[in-house]
Amino acid sequence: MSITPLMPVYPRCGVRPVRGEGAYLIGERGERYLDFASGIAVNLLGHGHPHLTKAIQDQAATLMHVSNLYGSPQGEALAQRLVDNSFADTVFFTNSGAEAVECAIKTARAYHSSGGNPQKHNLITFNNAFHGRTLGTISATNQEKLRKGFDPLLPGFDYAPFDDLNAALDLVDDNTAGFLVEPVQGEGGIRPASQPFLQGLRDICNERDLVLVFDEVQCGVARTGSLYAYEQYGVEPDILASAKGIGGGFPMGACLATEKAARGMVIGTHGSTYGGNPLAMAAGQAVLDVVLEDGFMDQVKATGERLRGALEQLIPNHDHLFEGTRGMGLMLGIKLKSDSRAFVAHLRDNHGLLTVAAGDNVVRILPPLNIEQTHIDECIERLSAGAASYTPPET
Ligand SMILES: *Cc1c(COP(=O)(O)O)cnc(C)c1O
Repeated sequence: MSITPLMPVYPRCGVRPVRGEGAYLIGERGERYLDFASGIAVNLLGHGHPHLTKAIQDQAATLMHVSNLYGSPQGEALAQRLVDNSFADTVFFTNSGAEAVECAIKTARAYHSSGGNPQKHNLITFNNAFHGRTLGTISATNQEKLRKGFDPLLPGFDYAPFDDLNAALDLVDDNTAGFLVEPVQGEGGIRPASQPFLQGLRDICNERDLVLVFDEVQCGVARTGSLYAYEQYGVEPDILASAKGIGGGFPMGACLATEKAARGMVIGTHGSTYGGNPLAMAAGQAVLDVVLEDGFMDQVKATGERLRGALEQLIPNHDHLFEGTRGMGLMLGIKLKSDSRAFVAHLRDNHGLLTVAAGDNVVRILPPLNIEQTHIDECIERLSAGAASYTPPET
């Protein structure tokens, strides 16, 4: 037997964390890492945040799980809070991002089928999109590396270049249900959409009764400096998938929708055994307690600007390696002149700094949202030392 007990689908690195303290991870041998990856935009309050930890501990001792067969005071309260703070009128809770996107896809299709137009079932999605790893969500991207070997995939998706409004409009036909798009592409390389692109999608949706679905699994929950990124574009979706940071490390997600867009999601059309259980709801409430506090979003924006400014200053000193910075709030990327994976590994193994590689030669910088100036300084020191000691692999 040579297969590992953990199914070997990840190229796992030598960092083996056993403990976390705020913005730091501690490995098996006691080594410390500055964690500017945050479990890929998940641990938005850092590790071991006292308010989140206590909420989970207290709820676990009170009531962990029942079933969606019963009334849910905890789910009603968190859904109401999301509704009060967003475009949405209704929320379905899931356990992951892919499930939130799946629910969003079903909601979009059900909108048209319940309106007497079942032929309007195609969603237009975008190059380099990442929507998850289920069969439905890998069908919703044209990235070959995610799809290869898993045919037959789900029909019902068309693909256009990201941020190209005319190309997207050209694909609209009588079978189009709407658009599924990340306002800021994450895995694709921290690429914020332009405002006219998202506005143009909104306009055609209004004209032709299509649905606009935003995948804010990575860019949502205060990451960009507003509860959801769409707020900064002034473009509201009809349906939105949220996850990653929403539980601060507790696995959960949510599909938010307007009353109109959710018209097809009636009793019996969807479900989840765990989705929205009291323990998840306690985690979600604790995260919102912190991020909705007065001044928190302003702090994220200000911290993001300081970090980005500091990164910008590094660029000219290492212009053989760095091309520029991109992103919004604390969802930042450094674009390299060569593949980012080897540099991310170098920062991790030789300079104790955790970041995440993304498409388009980008190093993703996704720190906890509550970091302080000392963490920024430390990140810049490690990055700068890392850039100085780095030789890109021969290509
Ligand atoms: C991570 C991610 C997903 C998938 O979330 P999972 O929790 O891994 O299923 C979907 N969409 C986007 C934009 C993501 O970044």
